[in-house]
Amino acid sequence: MFNKILIANRGEIALRVVRAAREMGIASVAVHSTADSDAMHVRMADESVCIGPPSSTQSYLSVPAIIAACEVTGAEAIHPGYGFLSENAGFVQVVEDHDLTFIGPTAEHIRIMGDKITAKDTMKKLGVPCVPGSDGGVASLEEAKRLGEEIGYPVIIKATAGGGGRGMKVAQTADQMEKAFLTARAEGKANFGNDEVYIEKYLTTPRHIEIQVFGDGKGRAVHLGERDCSLQRRHQKVFEEAPGPSISPEERAAIGKTCADAVARINYIGAGTIEFLYENGEFYFIEMNTRLQVEHPVTEGIFGVDLVREQIRVAAGMEMSFQQEDLTINGHAIEVRINAEKLPNFAPCPGRITQYHAPGGLGVRMDSALYDGYSIPPYYDSLIGKLIVHGRDRPEALARLNRALGELIVDGVDTTVPLFHALLQEEDVLTGGYNIHWLEHWLETNLGGS
Ligand code: ADP
Repeated sequence: MFNKILIANRGEIALRVVRAAREMGIASVAVHSTADSDAMHVRMADESVCIGPPSSTQSYLSVPAIIAACEVTGAEAIHPGYGFLSENAGFVQVVEDHDLTFIGPTAEHIRIMGDKITAKDTMKKLGVPCVPGSDGGVASLEEAKRLGEEIGYPVIIKATAGGGGRGMKVAQTADQMEKAFLTARAEGKANFGNDEVYIEKYLTTPRHIEIQVFGDGKGRAVHLGERDCSLQRRHQKVFEEAPGPSISPEERAAIGKTCADAVARINYIGAGTIEFLYENGEFYFIEMNTRLQVEHPVTEGIFGVDLVREQIRVAAGMEMSFQQEDLTINGHAIEVRINAEKLPNFAPCPGRITQYHAPGGLGVRMDSALYDGYSIPPYYDSLIGKLIVHGRDRPEALARLNRALGELIVDGVDTTVPLFHALLQEEDVLTGGYNIHWLEHWLETNLGGS
Protein backbone atom coordinates (compact mmCIF):
# COMPACT_ATOMS: atom_id res chain seq x y z
CA MET A 1 0.00 0.00 0.00
CA PHE A 2 1.06 3.60 -0.60
CA ASN A 3 2.52 5.66 2.23
CA LYS A 4 1.56 8.98 0.73
CA ILE A 5 -0.77 10.17 -2.03
CA LEU A 6 -1.26 13.54 -3.67
CA ILE A 7 -4.70 14.88 -4.52
CA ALA A 8 -4.76 16.86 -7.75
CA ASN A 9 -8.02 18.66 -7.00
CA ARG A 10 -9.74 21.09 -4.64
CA GLY A 11 -12.98 21.62 -2.73
CA GLU A 12 -15.24 18.90 -1.41
CA ILE A 13 -13.76 16.12 -3.55
CA ALA A 14 -10.21 16.81 -2.37
CA LEU A 15 -11.48 16.62 1.20
CA ARG A 16 -13.33 13.40 0.36
CA VAL A 17 -10.07 11.77 -0.75
CA VAL A 18 -8.15 13.10 2.30
CA ARG A 19 -10.75 11.38 4.50
CA ALA A 20 -10.44 8.02 2.76
CA ALA A 21 -6.65 8.19 2.87
CA ARG A 22 -6.60 9.01 6.57
CA GLU A 23 -8.83 6.06 7.42
CA MET A 24 -6.40 3.85 5.50
CA GLY A 25 -3.37 5.23 7.34
CA ILE A 26 -2.07 6.93 4.18
CA ALA A 27 -0.62 10.45 4.37
CA SER A 28 -2.16 12.99 1.98
CA VAL A 29 -0.72 15.94 0.10
CA ALA A 30 -3.01 18.76 -0.97
CA VAL A 31 -2.11 21.02 -3.86
CA HIS A 32 -3.61 24.47 -4.18
CA SER A 33 -3.56 27.70 -6.12
CA THR A 34 -2.81 31.00 -4.39
CA ALA A 35 -6.59 31.62 -4.32
CA ASP A 36 -7.08 28.46 -2.22
CA SER A 37 -4.41 28.96 0.49
CA ASP A 38 -7.15 29.03 3.14
CA ALA A 39 -9.17 26.17 1.69
CA MET A 40 -10.35 23.33 3.90
CA HIS A 41 -8.66 20.61 1.82
CA VAL A 42 -5.34 22.37 2.47
CA ARG A 43 -6.03 22.53 6.21
CA MET A 44 -7.10 18.91 6.48
CA ALA A 45 -4.36 17.25 4.40
CA ASP A 46 -1.12 16.24 6.08
CA GLU A 47 0.95 18.46 3.78
CA SER A 48 0.25 21.03 1.12
CA VAL A 49 2.03 22.56 -1.84
CA CYS A 50 1.14 25.78 -3.64
CA ILE A 51 1.25 25.01 -7.36
CA GLY A 52 0.43 28.31 -9.01
CA PRO A 53 -1.80 31.36 -9.46
CA PRO A 54 -5.64 31.25 -9.36
CA SER A 55 -6.19 30.37 -13.02
CA SER A 56 -6.77 26.59 -13.25
CA THR A 57 -4.66 26.31 -16.38
CA GLN A 58 -1.67 27.51 -14.35
CA SER A 59 -2.43 25.49 -11.21
CA TYR A 60 -4.88 22.54 -11.04
CA LEU A 61 -4.32 21.79 -14.73
CA SER A 62 -0.56 22.34 -14.68
CA VAL A 63 0.98 18.91 -15.20
CA PRO A 64 4.61 19.99 -14.48
CA ALA A 65 3.55 21.72 -11.24
CA ILE A 66 1.68 18.62 -10.04
CA ILE A 67 4.49 16.22 -10.90
CA ALA A 68 6.98 18.54 -9.16
CA ALA A 69 4.73 18.57 -6.07
CA CYS A 70 4.88 14.76 -5.98
CA GLU A 71 8.64 14.82 -6.26
CA VAL A 72 9.19 17.33 -3.45
CA THR A 73 6.78 15.60 -1.06
CA GLY A 74 7.58 12.01 -1.97
CA ALA A 75 3.98 11.17 -2.85
CA GLU A 76 3.78 7.87 -4.72
CA ALA A 77 0.36 8.13 -6.30
CA ILE A 78 -2.06 10.79 -7.55
CA HIS A 79 -5.83 10.85 -7.05
CA PRO A 80 -7.36 13.19 -9.65
CA GLY A 81 -10.88 13.57 -8.18
CA TYR A 82 -13.36 14.55 -10.92
CA GLY A 83 -13.01 17.31 -13.53
CA PHE A 84 -9.57 18.93 -14.01
CA LEU A 85 -7.08 16.22 -15.10
CA SER A 86 -9.21 13.20 -14.18
CA GLU A 87 -9.96 12.18 -17.79
CA ASN A 88 -6.79 13.42 -19.44
CA ALA A 89 -4.97 10.48 -21.04
CA GLY A 90 -1.85 12.59 -21.67
CA PHE A 91 -1.60 13.36 -17.95
CA VAL A 92 -1.88 9.68 -17.03
CA GLN A 93 0.96 8.93 -19.43
CA VAL A 94 3.19 11.58 -17.83
CA VAL A 95 2.34 10.25 -14.35
CA GLU A 96 3.39 6.74 -15.41
CA ASP A 97 6.54 8.02 -17.12
CA HIS A 98 7.58 9.47 -13.75
CA ASP A 99 7.11 6.12 -12.02
CA LEU A 100 4.11 7.43 -10.13
CA THR A 101 0.74 5.68 -9.92
CA PHE A 102 -2.44 7.24 -11.28
CA ILE A 103 -5.40 6.29 -9.08
CA GLY A 104 -7.78 5.57 -11.94
CA PRO A 105 -7.92 3.71 -15.23
CA THR A 106 -5.16 3.43 -17.83
CA ALA A 107 -4.41 6.12 -20.41
CA GLU A 108 -5.71 3.72 -23.07
CA HIS A 109 -9.12 3.29 -21.39
CA ILE A 110 -9.46 7.04 -21.00
CA ARG A 111 -8.55 7.55 -24.67
CA ILE A 112 -11.09 4.98 -25.91
CA MET A 113 -13.95 6.44 -23.86
CA GLY A 114 -12.99 10.08 -24.54
CA ASP A 115 -13.84 9.77 -28.24
CA LYS A 116 -17.57 9.20 -28.54
CA ILE A 117 -17.52 7.21 -31.79
CA THR A 118 -14.76 4.90 -30.51
CA ALA A 119 -16.53 4.58 -27.15
CA LYS A 120 -19.84 3.66 -28.78
CA ASP A 121 -18.20 1.24 -31.18
CA THR A 122 -16.30 -0.43 -28.32
CA MET A 123 -19.42 -0.74 -26.17
CA LYS A 124 -21.44 -2.15 -29.05
CA LYS A 125 -18.81 -4.84 -29.61
CA LEU A 126 -18.88 -5.61 -25.87
CA GLY A 127 -22.63 -6.23 -26.04
CA VAL A 128 -23.80 -2.98 -24.44
CA PRO A 129 -27.06 -1.63 -25.97
CA CYS A 130 -26.58 1.65 -27.88
CA VAL A 131 -28.86 4.29 -29.41
CA PRO A 132 -29.66 3.36 -33.05
CA GLY A 133 -27.67 5.53 -35.42
CA SER A 134 -24.83 5.83 -37.89
CA ASP A 135 -21.97 3.35 -37.82
CA GLY A 136 -19.16 5.77 -37.07
CA GLY A 137 -18.66 9.23 -38.55
CA VAL A 138 -20.92 10.85 -41.12
CA ALA A 139 -18.87 12.67 -43.75
CA SER A 140 -21.39 14.52 -45.90
CA LEU A 141 -24.74 16.26 -45.70
CA GLU A 142 -26.14 13.82 -48.29
CA GLU A 143 -25.20 10.87 -46.10
CA ALA A 144 -26.69 12.64 -43.07
CA LYS A 145 -29.97 13.17 -44.91
CA ARG A 146 -30.09 9.57 -46.07
CA LEU A 147 -29.46 8.37 -42.49
CA GLY A 148 -32.11 10.76 -41.15
CA GLU A 149 -34.71 9.02 -43.33
CA GLU A 150 -33.41 5.58 -42.43
CA ILE A 151 -33.26 6.11 -38.64
CA GLY A 152 -36.43 8.23 -38.59
CA TYR A 153 -36.78 11.78 -37.25
CA PRO A 154 -36.12 13.32 -34.77
CA VAL A 155 -32.36 12.66 -34.80
CA ILE A 156 -29.44 14.18 -32.92
CA ILE A 157 -26.14 15.09 -34.57
CA LYS A 158 -23.20 14.85 -32.18
CA ALA A 159 -19.55 15.89 -32.41
CA THR A 160 -17.38 12.87 -31.62
CA ALA A 161 -15.06 15.04 -29.52
CA GLY A 162 -17.96 16.90 -27.84
CA GLY A 163 -18.55 17.24 -24.13
CA GLY A 164 -20.41 19.28 -21.55
CA GLY A 165 -23.47 19.34 -23.78
CA ARG A 166 -21.64 21.20 -26.59
CA GLY A 167 -21.49 20.01 -30.17
CA MET A 168 -24.98 18.41 -30.16
CA LYS A 169 -27.86 19.52 -32.38
CA VAL A 170 -31.34 18.05 -32.82
CA ALA A 171 -33.07 17.86 -36.21
CA GLN A 172 -36.81 17.40 -35.65
CA THR A 173 -37.53 17.00 -39.36
CA ALA A 174 -35.65 16.60 -42.66
CA ASP A 175 -35.81 20.40 -43.22
CA GLN A 176 -33.73 20.97 -40.10
CA MET A 177 -30.99 18.52 -41.05
CA GLU A 178 -28.75 20.86 -43.01
CA LYS A 179 -28.57 23.48 -40.27
CA ALA A 180 -28.17 20.91 -37.46
CA PHE A 181 -25.46 18.99 -39.31
CA LEU A 182 -23.42 22.09 -40.21
CA THR A 183 -23.77 23.62 -36.73
CA ALA A 184 -22.73 20.45 -34.88
CA ARG A 185 -19.72 20.18 -37.19
CA ALA A 186 -18.76 23.83 -36.69
CA GLU A 187 -19.13 23.56 -32.89
CA GLY A 188 -16.98 20.43 -32.83
CA LYS A 189 -14.31 22.20 -34.84
CA ALA A 190 -14.43 25.44 -32.83
CA ASN A 191 -14.58 23.91 -29.34
CA PHE A 192 -12.70 20.65 -29.69
CA GLY A 193 -10.63 21.02 -32.87
CA ASN A 194 -12.40 18.04 -34.50
CA ASP A 195 -15.33 18.37 -36.91
CA GLU A 196 -16.24 14.68 -37.08
CA VAL A 197 -19.92 14.07 -36.26
CA TYR A 198 -22.25 11.08 -35.98
CA ILE A 199 -26.01 10.64 -35.89
CA GLU A 200 -28.35 9.02 -33.39
CA LYS A 201 -32.07 8.60 -32.96
CA TYR A 202 -33.26 11.39 -30.65
CA LEU A 203 -35.16 9.97 -27.68
CA THR A 204 -37.96 12.29 -26.62
CA THR A 205 -38.76 11.38 -23.01
CA PRO A 206 -35.85 9.35 -21.59
CA ARG A 207 -34.52 9.16 -18.07
CA HIS A 208 -30.80 9.40 -17.35
CA ILE A 209 -29.77 6.14 -15.73
CA GLU A 210 -26.10 5.40 -15.07
CA ILE A 211 -24.49 2.19 -13.90
CA GLN A 212 -21.58 2.28 -11.45
CA VAL A 213 -18.95 -0.27 -12.35
CA PHE A 214 -15.71 -1.19 -10.65
CA GLY A 215 -12.84 -3.28 -12.04
CA ASP A 216 -9.65 -4.72 -10.57
CA GLY A 217 -7.62 -4.39 -13.79
CA LYS A 218 -7.17 -8.16 -13.92
CA GLY A 219 -10.38 -9.12 -15.63
CA ARG A 220 -12.70 -9.03 -12.65
CA ALA A 221 -15.44 -6.41 -12.35
CA VAL A 222 -18.65 -5.76 -10.46
CA HIS A 223 -21.55 -3.34 -10.78
CA LEU A 224 -23.08 -1.29 -8.00
CA GLY A 225 -26.50 -0.73 -9.48
CA GLU A 226 -27.79 2.47 -11.00
CA ARG A 227 -28.27 6.11 -10.20
CA ASP A 228 -31.14 8.11 -11.66
CA CYS A 229 -29.82 11.58 -12.53
CA SER A 230 -32.68 12.77 -14.73
CA LEU A 231 -33.22 16.07 -12.92
CA GLN A 232 -30.86 18.23 -14.96
CA ARG A 233 -30.47 21.85 -15.95
CA ARG A 234 -28.57 22.43 -19.18
CA HIS A 235 -27.33 18.83 -19.06
CA GLN A 236 -25.95 19.45 -15.54
CA LYS A 237 -27.24 17.10 -12.86
CA VAL A 238 -28.75 18.75 -9.78
CA PHE A 239 -30.51 15.90 -7.90
CA GLU A 240 -29.47 12.26 -8.01
CA GLU A 241 -30.84 9.15 -6.40
CA ALA A 242 -30.21 5.44 -6.02
CA PRO A 243 -31.81 3.08 -6.66
CA GLY A 244 -33.64 4.55 -9.68
CA PRO A 245 -37.40 4.77 -8.95
CA SER A 246 -38.24 3.31 -12.38
CA ILE A 247 -35.82 0.37 -12.42
CA SER A 248 -36.89 -3.13 -11.36
CA PRO A 249 -34.53 -5.57 -9.63
CA GLU A 250 -34.57 -7.75 -12.79
CA GLU A 251 -33.65 -4.82 -15.04
CA ARG A 252 -30.88 -3.79 -12.62
CA ALA A 253 -29.41 -7.28 -12.51
CA ALA A 254 -29.47 -7.61 -16.31
CA ILE A 255 -28.03 -4.23 -17.29
CA GLY A 256 -25.61 -4.33 -14.35
CA LYS A 257 -24.25 -7.69 -15.49
CA THR A 258 -23.92 -6.49 -19.09
CA CYS A 259 -21.88 -3.49 -17.90
CA ALA A 260 -19.72 -5.44 -15.44
CA ASP A 261 -18.96 -8.08 -18.08
CA ALA A 262 -18.09 -5.39 -20.63
CA VAL A 263 -15.54 -3.66 -18.40
CA ALA A 264 -14.14 -6.97 -17.17
CA ARG A 265 -13.38 -7.90 -20.78
CA ILE A 266 -11.27 -4.78 -21.28
CA ASN A 267 -9.49 -5.26 -17.91
CA TYR A 268 -10.84 -1.97 -16.67
CA ILE A 269 -9.34 -0.77 -13.39
CA GLY A 270 -11.05 1.35 -10.75
CA ALA A 271 -14.36 3.21 -10.74
CA GLY A 272 -16.28 3.94 -13.92
CA THR A 273 -19.78 4.98 -14.87
CA ILE A 274 -21.65 3.82 -17.94
CA GLU A 275 -24.35 6.34 -18.77
CA PHE A 276 -27.59 5.42 -20.48
CA LEU A 277 -30.76 7.02 -21.63
CA TYR A 278 -33.67 4.82 -20.55
CA GLU A 279 -37.00 4.88 -22.36
CA ASN A 280 -39.86 2.35 -22.56
CA GLY A 281 -37.90 -0.29 -20.68
CA GLU A 282 -34.83 -0.06 -22.96
CA PHE A 283 -31.33 1.15 -22.13
CA TYR A 284 -29.29 3.14 -24.68
CA PHE A 285 -25.59 3.78 -24.01
CA ILE A 286 -24.51 7.42 -24.36
CA GLU A 287 -21.07 7.65 -22.75
CA MET A 288 -18.69 6.24 -20.18
CA ASN A 289 -17.00 8.37 -17.53
CA THR A 290 -13.65 6.91 -16.52
CA ARG A 291 -13.50 8.47 -13.05
CA LEU A 292 -15.30 8.94 -9.76
CA GLN A 293 -18.57 10.85 -10.28
CA VAL A 294 -19.79 13.81 -8.24
CA GLU A 295 -22.84 11.71 -7.30
CA HIS A 296 -20.93 8.62 -6.11
CA PRO A 297 -22.11 9.08 -2.47
CA VAL A 298 -25.64 7.87 -3.23
CA THR A 299 -24.19 4.55 -4.35
CA GLU A 300 -21.99 4.45 -1.25
CA GLY A 301 -25.09 5.12 0.83
CA ILE A 302 -27.11 2.16 -0.40
CA PHE A 303 -24.24 -0.33 -0.65
CA GLY A 304 -22.31 0.78 2.45
CA VAL A 305 -18.95 0.83 0.63
CA ASP A 306 -16.23 3.47 0.31
CA LEU A 307 -15.51 3.83 -3.41
CA VAL A 308 -12.44 6.02 -2.92
CA ARG A 309 -10.92 3.44 -0.62
CA GLU A 310 -11.50 0.80 -3.29
CA GLN A 311 -9.94 3.03 -5.95
CA ILE A 312 -6.81 3.38 -3.82
CA ARG A 313 -6.71 -0.36 -3.09
CA VAL A 314 -6.83 -1.50 -6.71
CA ALA A 315 -4.37 1.21 -7.79
CA ALA A 316 -1.96 -0.26 -5.23
CA GLY A 317 -2.42 -3.71 -6.80
CA MET A 318 -4.70 -5.09 -4.09
CA GLU A 319 -7.97 -6.92 -4.61
CA MET A 320 -11.35 -5.20 -4.37
CA SER A 321 -12.76 -5.76 -0.92
CA PHE A 322 -16.09 -7.06 -2.28
CA GLN A 323 -17.46 -9.41 -4.91
CA GLN A 324 -20.75 -9.10 -6.74
CA GLU A 325 -22.60 -11.35 -4.27
CA ASP A 326 -21.49 -9.15 -1.33
CA LEU A 327 -23.22 -6.14 -2.83
CA THR A 328 -26.81 -5.79 -1.68
CA ILE A 329 -28.93 -2.67 -1.70
CA ASN A 330 -29.99 -1.22 1.60
CA GLY A 331 -32.65 1.52 1.44
CA HIS A 332 -32.61 4.64 -0.69
CA ALA A 333 -30.21 7.59 -1.02
CA ILE A 334 -30.60 11.05 -2.55
CA GLU A 335 -28.02 13.75 -3.23
CA VAL A 336 -28.66 17.40 -3.99
CA ARG A 337 -25.94 19.65 -5.35
CA ILE A 338 -25.65 22.91 -3.50
CA ASN A 339 -24.16 25.59 -5.71
CA ALA A 340 -23.29 29.20 -4.87
CA GLU A 341 -25.68 30.53 -7.49
CA LYS A 342 -28.46 33.07 -7.56
CA LEU A 343 -31.88 32.01 -8.78
CA PRO A 344 -33.68 32.30 -11.15
CA ASN A 345 -30.79 32.44 -13.60
CA PHE A 346 -28.25 30.42 -11.63
CA ALA A 347 -25.67 33.21 -11.87
CA PRO A 348 -22.48 32.26 -9.97
CA CYS A 349 -22.41 33.94 -6.59
CA PRO A 350 -18.94 33.77 -5.05
CA GLY A 351 -18.27 35.64 -1.79
CA ARG A 352 -17.69 35.34 1.94
CA ILE A 353 -19.63 32.82 4.03
CA THR A 354 -20.71 34.69 7.16
CA GLN A 355 -22.30 31.68 8.79
CA TYR A 356 -22.26 27.98 8.01
CA HIS A 357 -24.02 25.17 9.79
CA ALA A 358 -24.10 21.65 8.36
CA PRO A 359 -27.13 19.44 8.97
CA GLY A 360 -26.62 16.18 10.83
CA GLY A 361 -28.45 13.33 12.45
CA LEU A 362 -29.30 9.83 11.32
CA GLY A 363 -28.75 9.18 7.62
CA VAL A 364 -27.36 12.62 6.77
CA ARG A 365 -24.00 13.23 5.07
CA MET A 366 -22.73 16.65 4.09
CA ASP A 367 -19.72 16.65 1.76
CA SER A 368 -18.53 20.24 1.70
CA ALA A 369 -15.36 22.24 2.16
CA LEU A 370 -17.20 25.28 3.59
CA TYR A 371 -16.55 26.84 6.99
CA ASP A 372 -17.51 30.07 8.79
CA GLY A 373 -15.67 33.00 7.28
CA TYR A 374 -14.54 31.12 4.15
CA SER A 375 -14.43 33.16 0.97
CA ILE A 376 -15.60 31.25 -2.12
CA PRO A 377 -13.17 32.27 -4.87
CA PRO A 378 -14.63 33.29 -8.24
CA TYR A 379 -12.28 31.18 -10.34
CA TYR A 380 -13.72 27.68 -10.09
CA ASP A 381 -17.07 25.93 -10.44
CA SER A 382 -19.87 26.90 -8.12
CA LEU A 383 -20.47 23.57 -6.34
CA ILE A 384 -20.03 24.27 -2.62
CA GLY A 385 -21.53 21.18 -1.10
CA LYS A 386 -23.43 17.96 -1.58
CA LEU A 387 -26.14 16.99 0.85
CA ILE A 388 -26.70 13.25 0.81
CA VAL A 389 -29.44 11.50 2.77
CA HIS A 390 -30.11 7.84 3.30
CA GLY A 391 -33.36 6.28 4.44
CA ARG A 392 -34.92 2.83 4.65
CA ASP A 393 -37.02 3.65 1.60
CA ARG A 394 -37.62 6.54 -0.81
CA PRO A 395 -40.32 8.31 1.26
CA GLU A 396 -38.06 8.24 4.32
CA ALA A 397 -35.13 9.60 2.29
CA LEU A 398 -37.33 12.42 0.96
CA ALA A 399 -38.57 13.34 4.43
CA ARG A 400 -35.00 13.30 5.70
CA LEU A 401 -33.86 15.50 2.83
CA ASN A 402 -36.57 18.01 3.66
CA ARG A 403 -35.58 18.00 7.32
CA ALA A 404 -31.83 18.29 6.59
CA LEU A 405 -32.30 21.14 4.10
CA GLY A 406 -34.19 22.98 6.84
CA GLU A 407 -31.19 22.65 9.19
CA LEU A 408 -28.59 23.80 6.68
CA ILE A 409 -27.39 27.37 7.13
CA VAL A 410 -25.24 29.01 4.46
CA ASP A 411 -25.27 32.80 4.95
CA GLY A 412 -23.42 35.40 2.93
CA VAL A 413 -24.01 34.04 -0.57
CA ASP A 414 -27.02 32.90 -2.57
CA THR A 415 -27.36 29.14 -3.04
CA THR A 416 -29.53 26.63 -4.87
CA VAL A 417 -31.12 25.46 -1.57
CA PRO A 418 -34.47 27.23 -2.28
CA LEU A 419 -34.73 25.24 -5.52
CA PHE A 420 -34.71 21.98 -3.56
CA HIS A 421 -37.26 23.22 -1.03
CA ALA A 422 -39.53 24.00 -3.99
CA LEU A 423 -38.86 20.70 -5.78
CA LEU A 424 -39.79 18.77 -2.65
CA GLN A 425 -43.31 20.22 -2.97
CA GLU A 426 -43.75 18.75 -6.44
CA GLU A 427 -45.82 15.64 -6.93
CA ASP A 428 -43.59 14.39 -9.78
CA VAL A 429 -40.49 14.62 -7.59
CA LEU A 430 -42.26 12.90 -4.70
CA THR A 431 -43.38 10.05 -6.95
CA GLY A 432 -40.19 9.90 -9.04
CA GLY A 433 -42.19 10.59 -12.21
CA TYR A 434 -39.73 12.74 -14.15
CA ASN A 435 -37.57 12.50 -17.26
CA ILE A 436 -34.52 14.47 -18.47
CA HIS A 437 -36.66 17.42 -19.66
CA TRP A 438 -38.82 17.75 -16.55
CA LEU A 439 -36.65 20.26 -14.66
CA GLU A 440 -36.14 22.59 -17.65
CA HIS A 441 -39.93 22.78 -18.12
CA TRP A 442 -40.46 23.31 -14.40
CA LEU A 443 -37.89 26.11 -14.28
CA GLU A 444 -39.50 27.85 -17.24
CA THR A 445 -42.94 27.64 -15.68
CA ASN A 446 -42.01 28.40 -12.10
CA LEU A 447 -38.98 30.66 -12.19
CA GLY A 448 -39.28 32.14 -15.67
CA GLY A 449 -35.60 31.39 -16.16
CA SER A 450 -33.76 28.36 -17.41
P1 ADP B 1 -21.83 15.30 -23.14
O1 ADP B 1 -20.57 14.51 -23.24
O2 ADP B 1 -21.76 16.62 -23.88
O3 ADP B 1 -22.37 15.41 -21.75
P2 ADP B 1 -23.73 13.13 -23.74
O4 ADP B 1 -23.57 12.24 -24.91
O5 ADP B 1 -23.43 12.57 -22.39
O6 ADP B 1 -22.90 14.48 -24.02
O7 ADP B 1 -25.20 13.68 -23.74
C1 ADP B 1 -25.59 14.72 -22.84
C2 ADP B 1 -27.09 14.83 -22.76
O8 ADP B 1 -27.66 15.10 -24.05
C3 ADP B 1 -27.80 13.57 -22.29
O9 ADP B 1 -27.81 13.45 -20.87
C4 ADP B 1 -29.19 13.80 -22.87
O10 ADP B 1 -29.88 14.75 -22.07
C5 ADP B 1 -28.92 14.44 -24.21
N1 ADP B 1 -28.80 13.42 -25.27
C6 ADP B 1 -27.67 12.83 -25.76
N2 ADP B 1 -27.95 11.91 -26.71
C7 ADP B 1 -29.29 11.89 -26.85
C8 ADP B 1 -30.22 11.15 -27.67
N3 ADP B 1 -29.82 10.23 -28.56
N4 ADP B 1 -31.55 11.41 -27.51
C9 ADP B 1 -31.98 12.33 -26.61
N5 ADP B 1 -31.17 13.06 -25.83
C10 ADP B 1 -29.85 12.85 -25.92
